[in-house]
Amino acid sequence: MSSTALITGITGQDGTYLAELLISRGYTVYGLVRGQNNPRLAVVAQLCPGVEFVEGDLLDQSSLIAALETCQPNEVYNLGAISFVGLSFKQALLTGEITGLGVTRMLEAIRTVNDKIKFYQASSSEMFGKVRESPQTELTPFHPRSPYGVAKVYGHYITVNYRESYGMFACSGILFNHESPRRGMEFVTRKITNGVARIKLGMQKQLTLGNLESQRDWGFAGDYVDAMYRMLQQPDPDDYVIATGEMHSIREFLELAFTRAGLDWRDHVGSDPRFFRPAEVDRLVGDASKARDKLGWTPTTTFKDLANMMVDSDLAIQQRAAAAGAPAG
Ligand code: NAP
Repeated sequence: MSSTALITGITGQDGTYLAELLISRGYTVYGLVRGQNNPRLAVVAQLCPGVEFVEGDLLDQSSLIAALETCQPNEVYNLGAISFVGLSFKQALLTGEITGLGVTRMLEAIRTVNDKIKFYQASSSEMFGKVRESPQTELTPFHPRSPYGVAKVYGHYITVNYRESYGMFACSGILFNHESPRRGMEFVTRKITNGVARIKLGMQKQLTLGNLESQRDWGFAGDYVDAMYRMLQQPDPDDYVIATGEMHSIREFLELAFTRAGLDWRDHVGSDPRFFRPAEVDRLVGDASKARDKLGWTPTTTFKDLANMMVDSDLAIQQRAAAAGAPAG
């Protein structure tokens, strides 16, 4: 029997990778889209021609119920969120509403329409924040350092709570940073690779960033959506850390990205305290042993390959834009 999935956050980075994976596995895939004329719809339609769209918003309970009634999914992947930490400091209440309470709205909608629907919640390493131990596992206490991290902790625990209270098949994936050529321009890795491409092509000279010493555990988004899928295929619901187990600084990413384009990052990069977070998260690194043992999941893309992939893609995008005489951001 073929399966049907509903993905919230279909217009984001992970949404399209997950849709591609599920379609390749024979799923019917619906993407929840918000707004009257979402400009990212056209991009999703081009990347994943098989995806069907259904209207809805994580702020609007009745729209989620209507979406579930329309799609009748076996699985819901809740990727929708305000996901940029910087924005969460500026719009803390909205972040709580969408990234936090939005999870409860979807869980309630599932309980109302069909409590047998399997549920995946996109939790985050930012929940560990000011880390209590390294590397971080499923059992490491949380200490979030941003409104985003706090909202994700709420989303994580409400997922666990609905599993324990109502016996729902609800999983929380605690994913460490994952990047790709589809990463939003507001995130530091993409800001760097887009900047590298533009500097290489003479479109800009300098790149200004925040704290270059922050250390993260960075993987490839294509690998990470596979972990989401695997969680919902297990006999029992559970929570899993998904990470590479390697920690690298933003400075290291800069070195790789600029070297790929034949440039020296020290000639082009400045650090401005205005881009620092009000409360920093300095060192995140995950231990994905449980995912490896139970899901058979391991990352396939190295840190260097990830940086190269993103630089190559941004160079191609900027070259096409230059040839067409149009700005590409
Ligand atoms: P992303 O590119 O920022 O995408 C966020 C998505 O959320 C967009 O499709 C956006 O749609 C949607 N959204 C925002 N507000 C919404 C609302 N009110 N109702 C419904 N949808 C809404 O994020 P991503 O990188 O793909 O990440 C996917 C999920 O994983 C997010 O929850 C993120 O917090 C989490 N996560 C990501 C990482 C990472 O490193 N990428 C790590 C850990 C956890 P619009 O087009 O309408 O704006």
